[in-house]
Amino acid sequence: MSAALSLDTFKSKAQSLSFRNQAFIDGKYVPALSGRTFDCINPATGKVLTQVAACDKEDVDAAVASARKAFEAGVWSDLHPSQRKRVLVKFADKIREHLDELALLETLDMGKPIGDSRAIDIPGSAKCIQWYGEAIDKLYDEVAPTDPGALALVTREPLGVVAAVVPWNFPLMMAAWKLGPALAAGNTVVLKPAEQSPLTAIRIAELAIEAGLPAGVLNVVPGFGETAGQALGRHMDVDCVTFTGSHEVGKLFLKYAGESNMKRVSCECGGKTPNIIMADAHDLDAAATAAAWGIFFNQGEVCNAGSRLLVDRRVKDRVLAKIKEVGDTLQPGDPLDPKTKMGAIVDANQLKRVMGYIDAGKKEGAALVYGGNQANEKSGGYFVAPTIFDAVKPQMRIAQEEIFGPVLSVISFDSEDEAVAIGNGTIYGLAAAVWTRDITKAHRAARKLRAGTVWVNCFDHGDISVPFGGYKQSGFGRDKSLHAIEKYQQLKTTWVNLKD
Ligand code: NDP
Repeated sequence: MSAALSLDTFKSKAQSLSFRNQAFIDGKYVPALSGRTFDCINPATGKVLTQVAACDKEDVDAAVASARKAFEAGVWSDLHPSQRKRVLVKFADKIREHLDELALLETLDMGKPIGDSRAIDIPGSAKCIQWYGEAIDKLYDEVAPTDPGALALVTREPLGVVAAVVPWNFPLMMAAWKLGPALAAGNTVVLKPAEQSPLTAIRIAELAIEAGLPAGVLNVVPGFGETAGQALGRHMDVDCVTFTGSHEVGKLFLKYAGESNMKRVSCECGGKTPNIIMADAHDLDAAATAAAWGIFFNQGEVCNAGSRLLVDRRVKDRVLAKIKEVGDTLQPGDPLDPKTKMGAIVDANQLKRVMGYIDAGKKEGAALVYGGNQANEKSGGYFVAPTIFDAVKPQMRIAQEEIFGPVLSVISFDSEDEAVAIGNGTIYGLAAAVWTRDITKAHRAARKLRAGTVWVNCFDHGDISVPFGGYKQSGFGRDKSLHAIEKYQQLKTTWVNLKD
């Protein structure tokens, strides 16, 4: 980041920022039909940023009607894939052109450090949309093996109206993981951002129009889960819900689908990632540094956060000492300061939840060896210091439940089999990591770990080219990679008789 970009620069840019705060339906910003709004809070100060339209069932009906009309008119779905590509690439460029504005919206709304919003969230979202745009005119359909008397085509068609319901931890990135493949495949979309972080989703809707997306192809309905979210889940004219969030709400979407039109549902849910450090890891300091970043990055509000450190008892003390050393450099600060590495927790509820788990850890008998306290309380915002519990037992709540905060549970093990068994011993299966210099051991553990992604000698590496999603109650369906496009397509068989 250039030296010119200081806390003062971002503070003054933030002062002059204007907020789009309405729903975006049929190519226009509109208030909620009820006129209701909700407060959008800056978690670093506890102050209201703006009031956002609180969409409910009737707004969802209008958005779905607009998306349906656009889909049936073929203004998007019938375009040549290379034309959709042009628009999506331009959409990605527009996001990049508004880097500072979107990064500020993300940071003010959600509390993550501005350095991360600028370097990761906004560029990553643009890259995702561009990647799917560039992919879509290179994919072929299939001709099935038949005898000469028939021609059997297996073609892929868009599903129709896709509802994307996303969480608050990476607001624009999670939306982009849905929008990229869903739009590239020719669907129209109604996006519901999380109520804690709606601002970037609302803003990019007009950037999409500027890029050439026809009105109605992307609609945004900010609002609450129980109202706007549920209305999408139960809507009879929505063909697919693509959801990222907690497994509890994921299960609700399965129920909504079963009780309405049997729409397709995919769920990308939470995790309790085991980060396994064997005694023979090539570089224990590197493993410990990655472990610290793996839990403290994004305030620990990461679905695949390495929230369980499983470490060989023989090297535990050395690894823990290094994690604390890195933790000292990641203490929470003003999210608008480019030097800040850890920002604010998203809202007062989440702060309460994280502090509740810290209490639970103490009560269950784990040893609090680092942090455990709120920080920067004078700011009026919601900050938690990086926290480590040692002597955690696998069945404790802090080792089983997703905390979604900067809290590391350290569990010692004595054998590879024990590490894998503990690693697999939760309801989740989103990701896992193994650190060892023994390639056989690494592959053996990677095979046995029931997780959608296994990192070997690294943590949280990857890019848009590989699928991401869970086993067990971490959900099903995959975001990212070409496989994600399949979630938004129907397969059609056309069997042509070639005999006279
Ligand atoms: P929630 O499940 O609480 O919410 C996710 C979305 O669902 C929000 O838009 C929310 O709306 C909506 N929602 C909430 N209640 C309902 C309801 N009754 N009916 C319909 N919709 C509803 O998750 P969080 O936003 O708290 O996000 C954190 C979770 O997301 C964690 O479990 C995390 O692991 C997971 N996640 C998973 C990822 C993955 O790729 N697997 C990536 C990122 C996060 P509102 O908030 O406005 O009420």
